[in-house]
Amino acid sequence: MKDYRFKLVAAVAVLAALTGFNSADAANVNITPLGAHKGEFCHLDRAMILEDPDGTRLLYDPGRTVAGPEDSRLGMIDAILVSHMHGDHVGDKTIAAEGTGGECAKPNFPNNALPNTNVVNIALAKNAKIVSGSEMPKYFASKLKALGGDPTNSQLVRFGASRKVGGVTITTVPAVHSNGIAGGMIEGELGELLNAAGLTAYAGPPTGYVLTFSNGLVAYLSGDTGVTAEQDTVVRQLYNAKLVVMNIGDTFTTGPKEAAWVINNLVKPASVIASHANQPSTKNGMVIDGTRLDQFMKAVNVPVHTPLSGNTMSFNSDGNCVTGC
Ligand SMILES: [Zn+2]
Repeated sequence: MKDYRFKLVAAVAVLAALTGFNSADAANVNITPLGAHKGEFCHLDRAMILEDPDGTRLLYDPGRTVAGPEDSRLGMIDAILVSHMHGDHVGDKTIAAEGTGGECAKPNFPNNALPNTNVVNIALAKNAKIVSGSEMPKYFASKLKALGGDPTNSQLVRFGASRKVGGVTITTVPAVHSNGIAGGMIEGELGELLNAAGLTAYAGPPTGYVLTFSNGLVAYLSGDTGVTAEQDTVVRQLYNAKLVVMNIGDTFTTGPKEAAWVINNLVKPASVIASHANQPSTKNGMVIDGTRLDQFMKAVNVPVHTPLSGNTMSFNSDGNCVTGC
């Protein structure tokens, strides 16, 4: 029996060598940043599309740099992931189209997405799910219902649980940040009262995500966060994340120094995509010296990839970039 098994494994190995087949060719996860200016990493860029090898497409924190559901870069979207309710993540206003108006340092956001939010507008038009943690799903469900959509498209996944969309298993992990729903995202008197009092509505804790793709790649999307113990205990020890999308903006989240410490000492992935730098990080696609991105790259022990808008990066199951980086 053992001998038979050995022969079978050997035959498969020979076949794989002959056909040139390997997992890097057949089963990569494609990640495409959707920023304000094509080929650059600009001030408020957050949005990314993550596509599983089985074709499942997830849109992460569309924020202000996806020009609503009409943005031609979106294509089909199966689910939208929302780390928290701040306007630069859920989308309170948006660009008119990629590359239209404004500098990389100060993009124009002429389109008002309130009170619906960019997330809800995209979910309605694409019939996409919104997969979020905390108290956020109730808010999204009520918006979808009020706008004639399907409230069951807003789906809960709290810390410790998981939910599958296509080939991707999605869970949320704690982020240490804040997560109020602004008055402008709530219609009527309640919204006005909140604004007048300088208060926000409770949405529960903010989150990050851990995604397990069908090729085995595990990715951690940090969301807006400071350093958390779960980046060690849960993200690394339990899920063994090999790719990280890490927010580096400082003031609101870990800055480049703290984010690099998280990568080097807590998560220890194979590679990282920087995100949420809150300043123009590139010119003509090249990293600008002295920026947070530059500091982060110099401090991190593993390859750091720049999220240039529209540039698709492909990652294998080990978290290594195989094309596009
Ligand atoms: Zn943010």
